[in-house]
Formats: sequence, structure tokens, C-alpha cells
Amino acid sequence: MKKITKILVANRGEIALRIMRTAREMGISTVAIYSEADRNAPHVRYADEAVCVGPPPAKESYLRADKIIQICHDLGVDAVHPGYGFLSENAEFSRAVSEAGLIFIGPSPQSIEVMGSKIAAKQAARRMNVPLVPGVDEAITDRTAAKLTAAQVGYPVLIKASAGGGGKGMRVVENAEEFDEQMDRAVSEAVQSFGDGSVFIEKYITKPRHIEIQVMADQHGNVVHLFERECSIQRRHQKVVEEAPSSVLTPQIRDAMGQCAVDVARGCNYHGAGTVEFIVDENLDFYFLEMNTRLQVEHPVTELITGVDLVKEMIWVAEGKQLSFAQADLSIRGHALEIRVCAEDPANNFLPDVGTLHTYVRPQGNGVRVDDGMEQGMEISIYYDPMIAKLVTYGKNRTEAIEKMRRAIDEYQIAGVQTTLPFCRFVMDHEAFLSGQFDTRFVGLYFKPEVLLTEPNHHEMNVAAALVGHLMHNQTPAPSREKASILPEQTSQWRTNRKTAR
Ligand code: ADP
Ligand code: ADP
Ligand code: MG
Repeated sequence: MKKITKILVANRGEIALRIMRTAREMGISTVAIYSEADRNAPHVRYADEAVCVGPPPAKESYLRADKIIQICHDLGVDAVHPGYGFLSENAEFSRAVSEAGLIFIGPSPQSIEVMGSKIAAKQAARRMNVPLVPGVDEAITDRTAAKLTAAQVGYPVLIKASAGGGGKGMRVVENAEEFDEQMDRAVSEAVQSFGDGSVFIEKYITKPRHIEIQVMADQHGNVVHLFERECSIQRRHQKVVEEAPSSVLTPQIRDAMGQCAVDVARGCNYHGAGTVEFIVDENLDFYFLEMNTRLQVEHPVTELITGVDLVKEMIWVAEGKQLSFAQADLSIRGHALEIRVCAEDPANNFLPDVGTLHTYVRPQGNGVRVDDGMEQGMEISIYYDPMIAKLVTYGKNRTEAIEKMRRAIDEYQIAGVQTTLPFCRFVMDHEAFLSGQFDTRFVGLYFKPEVLLTEPNHHEMNVAAALVGHLMHNQTPAPSREKASILPEQTSQWRTNRKTAR
């Protein structure tokens, strides 16, 4: 067992801060790395020490494993936390860290390797008798045979890249006629994005819910699960709203999924924090999708309902200690919601938006947690993920968590870029979301950019209010005053709309 005294966080933004905060609470010193684009970022200032690793492109900075390991040696670091994205699911990096005599705060390179390939992961899950989505669970080499299987499992089917991630590398095939064309596209996309053209086929579940299970394991064979997260509100196969617990799971199904997740983790000798993702169909039958061998973006909702600090536990087990709790010690208390506040334009197909955060004021108060790595005046860079913050609320039940989320979204003031806030506000008022009866088709079924015009648009109003404040402060000339003078009426209109919308 080795006590960790100094951690290098090989990441940026909110997750770097999130990890360093827990390290500080544990009395562990922190080292940040940063690219030239992030010189003034909060994670750099927060760390006890910080080192520039290169120019803005991730390949030349945050992905430079060699430089990162050299910095560890230079500064006497004894452990590396990779966060999510970047090098977090890179088995080579985890191996290099260990071979350099450092602790990698995460699973072994072998576990990462197995789960990093969706095909290998499915085969491992099959060995543990975990249900899989019907399809072809090996790399497709014989197209004619694959087409036959597709017809057998029934269209629509999904062609997936084995090395895929981040919602990329997936193609829906509606019928046999499209099969060859979509196959060509899927393979070429997989080669281009992931450097690996292996693809496989899954039945496309038509009313799918994405429900995942958080697992935690130590190096002594103890594996537990920390219940589920419901992540079905997605755009481009990527999550925007997450919550725990799910409205649809019965205690029996929760236990069964939890047990399967634990089995998947055991099946690859897992240690550390991990997430086993499942697709759940309309009959509540569940199927293994993949395992993410890292801390998940949406881990805070689990922390809120269980009272466990997942990063603390990760550090703990990386030191070789036993898990600090057993399955029987864990229970669900209350309800948590998370929205991803991304610099994207929901009115324009959620396309990423770049620019300066002219106004940036976070919501506060009871039951509100904001994990972010940005502040007013900063640039949203084209080089990295456009997520500005994760806004998380906690209430004694789902209704209370939703009420707090509405209030918190309305308090959030962001100007300078378009964000997902207005979309998330729309979700919080939508009857399908409120009833709990929704699936991953939510955006496609219910969301049209027009709803942001007719529905209350607190975001624009906050921007407008910020603008008014700015104008008044700066003694502005007449044309701008004219703009300011129409605002109060719009505000009241918006408030009336909002009341009726509720
Ligand atoms: P989560 O599954 O934790 O919700 P996401 O799928 O949103 O996570 O991915 C988390 C981060 O990791 C995002 O920044 C995403 O762009 C990045 N990411 C995920 N998978 C890959 C991958 N295979 N290659 C590169 N980046 C990835
Ligand atoms: P990634 O590595 O990009 O996260 P996943 O396999 O986890 O890939 O799938 C991402 C999302 O795509 C899921 O959350 C779900 O919305 C959708 N999806 C994946 N597989 C299926 C399927 N067989 N049927 C329906 N939807 C699917
Ligand atoms: Mg996934």
C-alpha cells in the first residue's frame, strides 16, 4: 500500500478542478497541466503547481503522454488522475504511467483494453451471462453473412464502430437496400475517426432508454454498484440531461442490472470507478451496451443520491486500500438531476458555438451544485469539448429536484455564446419528461427550434438583462437605449408565458 501525496491531473476544465478539490480535502498536493490556450484557466490557478505542456491542439498538449510522465518525475508526483476524455481510456498511457513507477488512478491497462473495444467488451459480457443486444458480436469480415444476420435480427439495425465513443461511429440502417452504402460509410468513418475500421451490428432498439450503472471496485476483489443513472435525453447519441434514480426501474430490475454490472466488472478484473451502460427497451428488458473505464461526466448525480465522493474512493482504492463501504451500506436518498451546459446552439441543430463569455453568473443556493472550469471573460475554444458547466440539483424527490433545476437555470446568466440552457429549460417543463415516460427519441419527437421562441426563453432574457445593465452602466447613446426600452414589456410577457407553461 502506498500513500499518495501528490497527484497530477492529466486534464483540463471542470473535471480537473473537480478532482483537485477532493485531492485538497484529502491533504494531497496537486499538479495541473495546461495548453497555451488555457494559461489563465481556473484549473491552472487552483493547482499547487502547474506546467504548460504545449500548444492548444490536444495532440500537442493534453495527449502528450511522454511530457506528462516527465513532469511527474520532475515534480515528484506519485499518482496521475486522467479524468474523462483525453488519455483516460488509453491503455498505453495507463501502462506507461505504471511502468514509470507511478500510480494510475484508474483500472489496469488490461481492463481498459478489453472494454475499449466494444466487440471485446461484448464478448466479455457474454461470458458473464449478461444480456446483449441481438446482433453480430464480432468484427464483420463477411458482408453477405452480416447482411443475412441483419435480416434475421430485423431492420432497423445499427452499424457500430468497435473503437467508437463520444456518440460517434454509429449508422442506422433502415432496410436491406441501404445496407451496403451505410456499411461503406461506417467503415470509412471508423478508420478516419478511430484508426480502426472494425464494425459490428446491433438490432436498433426502437424505443431505447439509456440507463447506466456506476460500479466501484478495489484491488482485493470487492466490487459494488452505486445504482443507476438515467441518460435518455440525448442529442447526436450524446447525453444532455441525466438523473438518478430512474423513474422506471423497479427495485427488482435495479438489483438485476446492478448485479450484471458487477459481473461485467468482475469479468475484466476491474478496479477503480467504472460505468456499465445498458439499453433498456419498452418492456424494461435491458441489454449491455459498453463499459466506460473511467470517471463519467455525469458522476455527480450518483454522488448526491449516495453521499459517496467517487473521486475520493478512486484515490483510496488506487492506494491499494479496500473499498470504504460494502453493497449493503449503500442506499438511494433523494433525487438528483444534471444538465450539461454546452456552448451549442439548440436552435441550430446543437452546433457548437465559440466566442467569449461576456457574462457568466452561476446559480447558487440550496440543492444546487455547479461543476465548471470557466469564468466571465474567458474564451470558449474551438480546440476542446464545448461543455461550459454541469449544473446539478438535488431534492428530496424528483419534483423538488426539477423545481430547483428550473430555478437554477433561470438564475444562470450566460452571454456571448449560445448554450443548451434554453433547451434544458424546455425539457424541465415538458410533460413527457415530467411523467418520466420518455426515451432517447425525446429530442427528435418533441424538440423544434420554434419552441424556444414561443416557450419562455429565460436565456435571452438574461442576456438582455445583462445587456441593459451593461448599457446603463456605460451611459450608452440613443439607439441602444431604444433597444433597452422595449425590454421590460418582453420581460413581463415572458413571465406570463412561463406561468401558463407550467
Ligand atoms: P460520458 O459517457 O461520461 O457521458 P461522453 O460520451 O460525453 O462521456 O464523453 C466524455 C468525454 O470524452 C467527452 O469530452 C467526449 O468528447 C470524450 N470522448 C468519449 N469517447 C471518446 C473517444 N473514443 N475518443 C475521444 N474522445 C472521447
Ligand atoms: P458511445 O461509445 O458513443 O457512448 P454507445 O454504444 O454507448 O456509444 O451508444 C451511444 C448511444 O447510442 C446510446 O446512449 C443510445 O442512445 C444509442 N444506441 C447505442 N446502441 C443502440 C441500439 N442498439 N439501439 C438503439 N440505440 C442505441
Ligand atoms: Mg456510451
